[in-house]
Amino acid sequence: MDIRSQDIKYLQGVGPVRAQLLDRELGIRTVGDLLSYYPYKYVDRTHIIRIEDIDGTMPYVQLKGEILSMGQNGMGGKKHLVAHFSDGTGVIELVWFAGLKYAAKSLQLHKPYIVFGKPTVFGGRINIAHPEINNAESDDGSASLTNQAGNLRFVPHYNTTERMKKSGLNSAAMAKLTSNMFELFKFPFTDSLPQSIIEKYHLISYDEALHNIHYPHDAVILRKAQERLKFEELFFIQLNILRYARDRMRKYRGIVFPHVGELFNGFYSNHLPFSLTEAQKRVIREIRKDMGSGRQMNRLLQGDVGSGKTLVALMCALIAADNGCQTCIMAPTEILAEQHLQTLRQFLGDMPVRVELLTGSIKGKRREKILEDLELPVTIRPLNSLSTPLELPLNSPSPISILIGTHAVIEDNVQFANLGLVVIDEQHRFGVAQRAKLWQKNAIPPHVLVMTATPIPRTLAMTLYGDLDVSVIDELPPGRKPIETMHIFDSHRQSLNRLISREIDKGQQVYVVYPLIKESEKIDLKNLEEGFVHMQEDFPMYRISKVHGQMKPAEKDAEMQRFVSGETQILVSTTVIEVGVNVPNASVMVIENAERFGLSQLHQLRGRVGRGAEQSYCLLVTKPQLAVDTRKRIQIMVDSTDGFEIAEQDLKLRGPGDLEGTQQSGQAFDLKIANLARDGQILTLAREAASIVLDNDPDEHLDQYSGVWRRLRELRKSNINWGAIS
Ligand code: ADP
Ligand code: MG
Repeated sequence: MDIRSQDIKYLQGVGPVRAQLLDRELGIRTVGDLLSYYPYKYVDRTHIIRIEDIDGTMPYVQLKGEILSMGQNGMGGKKHLVAHFSDGTGVIELVWFAGLKYAAKSLQLHKPYIVFGKPTVFGGRINIAHPEINNAESDDGSASLTNQAGNLRFVPHYNTTERMKKSGLNSAAMAKLTSNMFELFKFPFTDSLPQSIIEKYHLISYDEALHNIHYPHDAVILRKAQERLKFEELFFIQLNILRYARDRMRKYRGIVFPHVGELFNGFYSNHLPFSLTEAQKRVIREIRKDMGSGRQMNRLLQGDVGSGKTLVALMCALIAADNGCQTCIMAPTEILAEQHLQTLRQFLGDMPVRVELLTGSIKGKRREKILEDLELPVTIRPLNSLSTPLELPLNSPSPISILIGTHAVIEDNVQFANLGLVVIDEQHRFGVAQRAKLWQKNAIPPHVLVMTATPIPRTLAMTLYGDLDVSVIDELPPGRKPIETMHIFDSHRQSLNRLISREIDKGQQVYVVYPLIKESEKIDLKNLEEGFVHMQEDFPMYRISKVHGQMKPAEKDAEMQRFVSGETQILVSTTVIEVGVNVPNASVMVIENAERFGLSQLHQLRGRVGRGAEQSYCLLVTKPQLAVDTRKRIQIMVDSTDGFEIAEQDLKLRGPGDLEGTQQSGQAFDLKIANLARDGQILTLAREAASIVLDNDPDEHLDQYSGVWRRLRELRKSNINWGAIS
């Protein structure tokens, strides 16, 4: 048995009570869990400095010397213990306000000590309150300070919870457990990575990495240990994804769509209101080829906001329909699903393609009817077979070709007669595992097209969508002018109001968006209501719509519709309009409290304007005092309209865990050490290594790779989300 799967409770210093605590608080159950509970920081204790060199700017100092005298002070006020400590170059005061008795009892005069703490320089005197103090000679109290050779070193710090601290399991105690563990297992931990990979990528051994991640000898080896463990972590994730993609190709035949029939061609020649951009044409060709290839398509379609992905989805759905198959389009919100419905119906005009909507708000008879009709078989329509136009009203049931809905469409036991294509629009949380679940439900897995405008940084895409082929729409429809973005303090509203009236007088429309954060819905709503009243006061001659998440869907729809139709000139709303809403006549996007939005969200919102031929504006309104990071984010928006660049910057500034819509990605992979924002290079190498292993040992039976496959099986067993990818 692998040592790593041994129960933690048998480890010296743990026992049943602590084992339970470790499990409950940190999910640490086995030796392996503890081994991979890495320190979050290290304090460099390799340097001793001299008291005469201390200045007020040092966060921490480590000194070696002796206590000259000790005594309790405190006239009237709080009692405290003061020790005068010297290293021969000067004297400082060590001060305790708590635990005086214990300190006084355990410290001895004129014995060598190592003192560590934050120095305060005040009126020429230096003191350290509550220093960490260790005997410099014996190795009992200072076990965690020196390595086996007795040298000072980097001290690891482990995250612990309040509950753990109360039971004495603080960072130092955790360090002690780790060191017990290393004591116990004298023999080296075996490598799962094959020797050839270790050599090719100049990695240190797993054993060396483990020791040095917890107890680094120096900064250089610490970096190497981190690199090795990051590589390993990312390697197995990539191996899992790539292996899954390969197996899927081997095992599953895709539905073949041989025809491009009358629906696709009819739409292309008679219903398309404009010509496709070259990028759209290329992408449709790529998708068509996939869907005719006999293997299941799994493709990511990336294209900036407004690049025309909806149309691509529609045309692919028409190919499916030409081949007697249905398409399901999943949108992230009900509003967006509704808008897709309208857009598609509008595009299709009188074409015999039935598009229906299924969301949580569609209930009762209407829902039953749709579910029923969804199981009516769709007839194949190759070229020139379109003789009798189908009737659309619900009383003469015609098959549903396209179902649009929120992702409940998939969960809800919705049965299709013949689902051939699933389009997932703007749902970044739909990672590998979710998609796998989705199409495993079908006898023959449908083709899958994932669409996103939030340009996912490369590293994240490789991890979340590492199994997908990628198509990119790198071109906006012609005639779009770059949106002009400005940063405005909320104290300078006159200029903003001038711009708004100027644009409305020209016949344009205006969005005003307020943030909506779940926890503070009430406050946000108040902001929005006040904003609405101000707009009414400032613009009495214009009609203003108001939309927010707490309105009834019907009410919300009606209000939205008033804006879409041009009846109202200004739409004051929360972020319900974030994704996908399309009003080409709108030329101004005012984002209130812009500091509260993430970059990709700002980019999405900005993408609501600039859809017509007119010059458009985005005004980011903030309070005047901003944190440095926030100011940077706003400036990135002002400087760039390139979604990919913005996404990369966002990842750099905030780290992947915080990226909107991708919160689950971190969890899904449970990254212990790698960081998708910073470790792009290692990720690329790890992916390359994983594909080398897959190529060299496709049947998973070569001796030199047995460790890899064993480890992969273990990881798949212990990680629910990994297991879902099979
Ligand atoms: P997104 O990629 O953000 O989903 P949409 O599909 O909503 O973008 O398209 C944005 C707008 O561009 C829509 O009004 C759509 O009708 C229009 N559009 C799409 N393709 C073209 C094209 N080739 N030429 C002109 N306008 C287009
Ligand atoms: Mg869209």
